[in-house]
Amino acid sequence: MTKATIEAPSQAATQSAFRSSSIFNELGMKQDPDNLYLQTIDAVLTAAEILELPHHVKIILAQPKNEIMVHFPVMMNDGKYHLFKGYRVQHNNALGPYKGGIRFHHDVSLDDVKALALLMTMKCSLARVPFGGGKGGVKCDPRSLDNDELMRVSRRFITAISRHIGPDIDIPAPDVGTNAQIMAWFADTYQGMAGSSSRNDALGVVTGKPVDMGGSLGREKATGQGVVDVVSEILPSMGLPLKGLKVSVQGFGNVGSWSGRLIEELGAKVVAVMDHTGAIRNDEGLNTEVLAMHVAETGGVAGFGASHGATQTGKHTQEGAQAISIEDFYRTPVDLLIPAALEQMITPENADWIDAKVIAEGANAPTTPAGERRLLERGIEILPAILCNAGGVTVSYFEWVQNKTSTYWDVEKVDADLNRHMVMAARRTQLAKQRYEVDLRTAAYIAALEQIGKVYAMRGIFP
Ligand code: NAD
Repeated sequence: MTKATIEAPSQAATQSAFRSSSIFNELGMKQDPDNLYLQTIDAVLTAAEILELPHHVKIILAQPKNEIMVHFPVMMNDGKYHLFKGYRVQHNNALGPYKGGIRFHHDVSLDDVKALALLMTMKCSLARVPFGGGKGGVKCDPRSLDNDELMRVSRRFITAISRHIGPDIDIPAPDVGTNAQIMAWFADTYQGMAGSSSRNDALGVVTGKPVDMGGSLGREKATGQGVVDVVSEILPSMGLPLKGLKVSVQGFGNVGSWSGRLIEELGAKVVAVMDHTGAIRNDEGLNTEVLAMHVAETGGVAGFGASHGATQTGKHTQEGAQAISIEDFYRTPVDLLIPAALEQMITPENADWIDAKVIAEGANAPTTPAGERRLLERGIEILPAILCNAGGVTVSYFEWVQNKTSTYWDVEKVDADLNRHMVMAARRTQLAKQRYEVDLRTAAYIAALEQIGKVYAMRGIFP
C-alpha cells in the first residue's frame, strides 16, 4: 500500500466526524473527533445552521475571545516551590460580563476549559441571565493539598489572572474541586488588590461565596435545585410523576448530592449512586441526607453500607447499601439517571448498559457524541446540561445583583426566582424542539442562540 492510499481514508474519516468542518477548515482548526471543544462547537454550529445565523456570528462563536494561560510558583509545606499551570478562557461577552466556574483538577486542559466556557455562553443565554461565558482551571489535585497549600494556590492563581477579571468584566465561581471557602480566598485576595474606594464593589468579583461573606442563600444547592426544577417541569408530561420515581446519581459532590437530596424530598427514590470511590445500591431508596454526611466524613460513597445501617440479618436498612460494580451501577433499572461527575463519562459502551428512561445532565458534557447517538437510538431522552445545570449560574446572577445593591434576599425569593428561570428555560427548549423537530440538546442550543443572534443583529460589529 502506498503512503497516499494510507492517508486518504483516515483524512476522510476525520472530516466526516464533524458537521461544521467547513468552518473548522476556514479557521484552521484541527479536526480531532475526540476533542471536547471541537465536539461542543460542532453541536452548537449545527444548531446555528438550523437557525440560519449569519456566517460572521458562527465564526465569532467558534473561537473564544480570550485564552489566558498562567504559570505561578507556590511554596509547599515542605519548603519547596511547585510551579502550577492555570487557565481562564473568556468565550463571549455579547450578553454581559464573562461568567463561569474555576476548576481545580489534575486533568484540566486548555481545550476542555474552552469547551466549558462555550457551554457557559450557551447556558447564560438559555437561562436569560445577563452574562457571557467563561471558565477557568488550575491543574492540581486539591485532595493532595492541605488547607494552607490550597489557600496559597488559590490566592496566587487569582493574583495571576487579576488583570483580566472584575465584577463588570469576568466573574468566576466554584466548579469541580473548588468551593465557597476557595471563593472567599479569591474575593479577599482580589479585594486586597483593589483600591480602598472600590473595595466594596470588588466583592462581586466572584460568586458562590460563603453566605456570611456576601454569598447568596440558596447558592450552594442551586445547581441541584435547578436540575430538580427542570425534571419536575418535564418528566410528569412524559408520564413520569416524581412520586416513586427511581433515580440513580453519578457523582455525589455539590451537584449530585443536592440533586439527590432534593428529588428525594419530592417523593423520588435514589436507588444507586456512584463516585470516584465506588458505587452503591439500595432498591428501597438510599437515605441521601445520611449518605451526604458519610461523603463529607470519608471523601466518597464507598463503605456506606458497612458504616451506616448494615444489619445483622444481612438486609440493609434505608441507611445501608450494598457495594456494586461500576457496570452494575449503569445497569440498575431506573426512570432517571443524573450524571453529576465529570465530562465524557457516558460512552457508547456504557450507553448500552444504561437502563433508564431519561437522563438529566447535571454535569457539563457528560455524554460523548457517540454515547449520545447510542442513547437516542435506544429511545432514552436526554435533558441537556445547558438546561439542567443552569441553576448554579442563575443564583450566581442573584448573588451578583445582591452584592451590587447591598440588599440580601431570603431563600424563598431565591428559590422562587430560580424556579421561574428554570421553568422558562425548559419551555424555551421544548418549544424549539417542536418548532425545529430536533433533539432536546440541539433545541436548547437553538433557544440560546436565538437570543445571541438577536443581540449581534442589534449591536452590529464595531467599527
Ligand atoms: P464536585 O467536585 O463537588 O463533585 C464531583 C463528583 O464527581 C464527586 O462526587 C467525585 O467523586 C465524582 N467523580 C470524579 N471523578 C469520577 C469518576 N471518575 N467516576 C465517578 N465519579 C467521579 O463537583 P460539582 O461542583 O458537583 O460538579 C460536577 C459537575 O457539574 C461538573 O461537570 C461541573 O462542571 C458541573 N457543574 C457544577 C456546578 C456547580 O455549581 N458546582 C454548576 C454547573 C455545572
